[in-house]
Amino acid sequence: MTVELLQYDVTVIGGGAAGVAAALEAGATGAKVALVERADDLGGTAAISGGGCCVPGTPLQESRGIQDSPDLAFDDWIKCGQGAADEQWARYYIDHALHDLYFWLESYGVKWLELQSNEGNSVPRWHRPANNGLGLMNALIGGMKSQGATRIFTGASVDKLLSVDGRAGGVRLKPADGGRTTEIRSKAVIVATGGFNSNLDMVLQARPELKPFKIMEGSGPGATGLGHGLIRELGGFFTHMENISFYVYATPDYLQTQASRGLVFRGITGYIWVNQEGRRFHDESRSGAPSATPALLRQTPPHAWAIVDSRMTANMQVADPYYREGDKIRRDRIEELLERSPYIRSAPTLEELARKIEVDVPTFLAEIEQYNRALEAGLACEPRFGKPLKACKKFDAPPYLAIQLFPLARKNLGGVKTDMHCRVLDKHFEPIPGLYAAGEVAGMAGGHINGKAGLEGTMIGPSFFSGRVAGGWAAHEAGFGTGFIGKIRKS
Ligand SMILES: Cc1cc2nc3c(=O)[nH]c(=O)nc-3n(C[C@H](O)[C@H](O)[C@H](O)COP(=O)(O)OP(=O)(O)OC[C@H]3O[C@@H](n4cnc5c(N)ncnc54)[C@H](O)[C@@H]3O)c2cc1C
Repeated sequence: MTVELLQYDVTVIGGGAAGVAAALEAGATGAKVALVERADDLGGTAAISGGGCCVPGTPLQESRGIQDSPDLAFDDWIKCGQGAADEQWARYYIDHALHDLYFWLESYGVKWLELQSNEGNSVPRWHRPANNGLGLMNALIGGMKSQGATRIFTGASVDKLLSVDGRAGGVRLKPADGGRTTEIRSKAVIVATGGFNSNLDMVLQARPELKPFKIMEGSGPGATGLGHGLIRELGGFFTHMENISFYVYATPDYLQTQASRGLVFRGITGYIWVNQEGRRFHDESRSGAPSATPALLRQTPPHAWAIVDSRMTANMQVADPYYREGDKIRRDRIEELLERSPYIRSAPTLEELARKIEVDVPTFLAEIEQYNRALEAGLACEPRFGKPLKACKKFDAPPYLAIQLFPLARKNLGGVKTDMHCRVLDKHFEPIPGLYAAGEVAGMAGGHINGKAGLEGTMIGPSFFSGRVAGGWAAHEAGFGTGFIGKIRKS
């Protein structure tokens, strides 16, 4: 078989958030970069993401009168991580996020539009960019193309890391059918292949206790853990792999043959969730991964039903391209989902609904009655879990619907361990020469920057940032530049 040999200074595997940031950073030093992406287009999961970034102390916050600082963000971050966050990496990201993420993205044309407050944050600091994750990726991909230092290989999957004289020395591309093999040789390789939450086998390997239950895949199509296998072959050490951010408000995609993928939905403010006994188990307004996910996973079995009435679905949104047309929501397709999905039941009365979802009828009816009574009494919060009732309404508009919820694996908070230069460490915590990792394959940065849960916006932000760090230091190892330095914002 013929082998085509190509030579670059740095090879980057993966054209998502971390990969494109790494290529830009390495390219800026004068290094010749090869970027390999298995999909036909660049962008990765990042391009279908919300694009929200956690950044403290920004001009946008200041313009809204929000006082924030790296110290406050660090405290929130560490609390949210429940003792498992990598404090050094968290501090590194937080201190650099204003200059080396927020302003850096602006320098490529990104516009920050609004702020959102998420569970665990003392102040709103989730910054939404124009056109979400796609807006961020289009800006950076445009920047990378104008820079001209990177050769982009799309539709090309890396199936092996080359080991040359005991160091990572390049990659082998999976040959196309009957085609020749291509090897890209380089002095440093950056793995930026994303997570593994679109590979149920890997999710269940990391969380074997969930094997008896239905769990759904919920990341981008490229997040199948291929890069984890490549790194493992060269001896990289993986850590905190059980820390997966599961979403609660997701129902199976019935249009997909095995319904193994889930659809995340939002915009139903007044709904309640009941377990298979028909009991509520959580304040549904706190739907984030830090508190809602453990609450769902404590149920037996760990699934639930979202109960809604016909008026509550008016603003429902489904986070999947099939249910949108650009910025427009396809209401017809949402109606189709509500009518046709076998995971969604409908009934003219609450009693009949309870029978259809096979929960205990008296328990279920008592829950709804208590909830409705709290609303009739004009209480600020319902008494069971303290859910604020301001935006809620009574269950009084039949037909009633029950949407079945299963845990959806969304983000990997654990991954390969790296040092502060993003060099991949082996089981003795020694760097593997020439090998770097950034983004979700490295638990977003360093191995476990978030810990057991994240504040939101703490995935794509650290993925860009660690991509930049890896790009700078990989280029340095290849003989270019000074390594990543950046600029700190002190509290
Ligand atoms: C729907 C959704 C919404 C999200 N919203 C947010 C949000 O608002 N804020 C936030 O912080 N996080 C969010 N996230 C998480 C965030 O998008 C990811 O954590 C982030 O994109 C990870 O970046 P990455 O570069 O590591 O991986 P990716 O962006 O997934 O890129 C990895 C790339 O590597 C490619 N690849 C994989 N294996 C190979 C191979 N062997 N050869 C060549 N190429 C390969 C893949 O095809 C992919 O393009 C969201 C995730 C999802 C699924």
